[in-house]
Amino acid sequence: MNRFSFEILGRDKETNARLGLIRTRRGDIETPYLVPVATLGSVRALGSDDLASLGVQCTLANTYHLHLKPGDELIKRLGGLHRFMGFAGPLFTDSGGFQAFSLGFGREHNISKIGNIFPQELSRVGAGQEGIQDEVDCRVEDSERSLCEPSEEDENLDSIDPGEIYKLNYRRDYGENSKEGRERSGKVAKKGPKIVKKENLTRITDDGISFKSMADGAWHFLNAEKSMKIQSNLDSDIIMAFDECTSPLSDYEYTKKAMLRTHDWADQSIRYHDKDQAIYGIIQGGWFEDLRNISTEFIASQSFDGIAIGGSLGNSKQDMHQVLDWTLPKLDDRPRHLLGIGEIDDIFECVARGVDTFDCVSPTRIARRGSLFLSPESGGSLQNKFHINIKSARFKSDELPLDPNCSCPTCRTYSRAYLRHLYVCGELTYFRLATLHNLHFMLRFMEDLRESIRAGTFLELKNKWLRTI
Ligand SMILES: [Zn+2]
Repeated sequence: MNRFSFEILGRDKETNARLGLIRTRRGDIETPYLVPVATLGSVRALGSDDLASLGVQCTLANTYHLHLKPGDELIKRLGGLHRFMGFAGPLFTDSGGFQAFSLGFGREHNISKIGNIFPQELSRVGAGQEGIQDEVDCRVEDSERSLCEPSEEDENLDSIDPGEIYKLNYRRDYGENSKEGRERSGKVAKKGPKIVKKENLTRITDDGISFKSMADGAWHFLNAEKSMKIQSNLDSDIIMAFDECTSPLSDYEYTKKAMLRTHDWADQSIRYHDKDQAIYGIIQGGWFEDLRNISTEFIASQSFDGIAIGGSLGNSKQDMHQVLDWTLPKLDDRPRHLLGIGEIDDIFECVARGVDTFDCVSPTRIARRGSLFLSPESGGSLQNKFHINIKSARFKSDELPLDPNCSCPTCRTYSRAYLRHLYVCGELTYFRLATLHNLHFMLRFMEDLRESIRAGTFLELKNKWLRTI
């Protein structure tokens, strides 16, 4: 038996927000919770001891990428993913189905589940502005980065993020006006979303998904049975059924086909999965109401331990709310996970509708790109997306902590001026300190959110953050 259970400890009276406790064989998860993403078995820039000291309850790792590197068989021989990465708490793994989108249609059309899934948001803010690329990258991180063989640039900088830091470093290392400096900075200094079509690296049939590895060009095949086997080898605690994640650009007919395929694979996932692991089914159906209804009914009728909502959530945040309004009221009291969402305002809206857990690379990824969380007390707002951009010249001599209201190790010790200095110089220390802050911030935010549900003040907290009244 997988020793998995979920208990609802309290419900908000004014919304559908709920306070819960997921029990797994490796510990409990208090919900609502944003699960930090450890794609390759690491929350980038942090060690598992950092996760423990921050109080991280659980993480989510990527089945497909760990299958490729270093290989799930090797991880199994080394005692499973917990032992391999030195993390004792519950681990989620996704099924690899998301890569059907991120390495396939999403890559070909240069769109992500989050960024251009909300093209209205993109056009409203305007291409090229800070923050948008962060969103675009939210779930594309694994396709764009982790799958790649480290480039020469990555090797030089220990696989940290490309972007401004690299540009600055090339200028520093090669001279801004040298031929090599110009070439190299030009190569990586592109601003804003890159609208460049790339090769579709997937082939999808009813049997499964073939992926072309960017590392060596070899094709790898995944189906439900194999995904279950890999997740069993990883020995994670909560696994996902194999699915096909469609794009916001997919039409009705294709979305329907992918949904029916996902339902077949859900059946197979239940049959083949390791019965010591808890398994979540994934609702698909894109942003078509009848398909979402069919998929919700089907997935909820299966003996899954929890229900995840995946796939395209429409063209705007309003569409996402609509998809959730079609879906969530039809579900029973099993835990609900929303794949790939992690902005502050989205979390409020989704928790209010009854979502229990989320996962998103955004908090840690944007930290590495210079966007650091700021609480409302320190000037954070919906308008600045609760971020400051540490690269800004205005922080050059700012002696304040990043967020004077934050008690993380970074804010307790360092000034904005120092962090900006580290960022501008491309110092590796920056990545750790920035990630510590953003993760600590998000964990405390979720804690406050849980406390507000417990105390009956959820809407009060929402209004304080979003200033909706
Ligand atoms: Zn902090």
